Amino acid sequence: MFQPDLLKNKTILVTGGGTGLGKAMGKRFLELGASLVICGRRAQVLKDTAAEFNSAFKNRAAYHVCDVRDAGQVEAMIEAQWRRAPLNALVNNAAGNIAARSETLSTRAVDAVLGIVLHGTAYVTWACGKKWLNEKRKASVLSILATYAWTGCGYVVPSAMAKAGVLAMTQSLAVEWGGRGIRLNGIAPGPFPTEGAWSRLVPRADLAKEIETNNPLGRPGRHEELGNLAAFLLSDYSEYINGECVTIDAGRWLKGAGQLNFLAKLTDEEWAMMRPAKKN
Ligand code: NAP
Repeated sequence: MFQPDLLKNKTILVTGGGTGLGKAMGKRFLELGASLVICGRRAQVLKDTAAEFNSAFKNRAAYHVCDVRDAGQVEAMIEAQWRRAPLNALVNNAAGNIAARSETLSTRAVDAVLGIVLHGTAYVTWACGKKWLNEKRKASVLSILATYAWTGCGYVVPSAMAKAGVLAMTQSLAVEWGGRGIRLNGIAPGPFPTEGAWSRLVPRADLAKEIETNNPLGRPGRHEELGNLAAFLLSDYSEYINGECVTIDAGRWLKGAGQLNFLAKLTDEEWAMMRPAKKN
């Protein structure tokens, strides 16, 4: 299904698309024929990423400098983008996160994370959604979540709260807007190493190995694997998928959840001892 024209005629905005997973997804969308728009706060990062893309993909990438925490900046970005080319899809990828003991977080730190992930995602989704509904344009929203949207997670509590909120937004608007041609879905990635996330969240090399390999496949995710899933969910092949969140983590959170999964540590001898004795 990953034909070079899979996403042809789609203009896709990826928030936070200048770095990390946003950049990786954007590259995949370009490979599959889309036009790409990225946004973020750092102009030079966006300029460099757009230049890299435009030399490889014939000027199909553009960027806006925009802090998604500021509803006015978001409105201005969407207006400017519509004058250039209306969007057909939005990927809510921009995020901030702080690893800390929760009692040490200031209210400003809590606001910073909620501001980007919860409020920012809502501002961009509303700004695009209103345009699409007015124009009766078919469109799709994909939000990058985390499995702790369901499970919660210590040491990143504002992020877990915000991702859970974005999941609720996805499910709610999928019902409200689905009948008017707008699909909303999510992806919950497991560990996909990026400079941004790893520098904020993983302070030691041994912990990096732990987060990257503590899953049934024993390896981290590859960026192109995430790109392919995102491309599928934005493509017309997934038109009947709405209000869903797809986990892509090699089964990592299920491994933590299953009460007896610790039995993986048993040796062959221990398994032999566990076997019920045969009756004559
Ligand atoms: P990243 O490289 O740090 O990406 C975050 C991006 O968001 C940056 O480009 C950043 O650009 C942008 N951003 C931050 N605050 C912003 C704001 N106020 N306005 C606009 N843009 C803003 O990290 P990543 O690992 O690729 O993460 C991407 C997404 O995947 C996030 O939603 C994250 O929660 C999710 N995720 C990642 C993993 C993983 O293993 N990497 C796992 C689960 C979920 P500026 O700083 O220039 O604004």
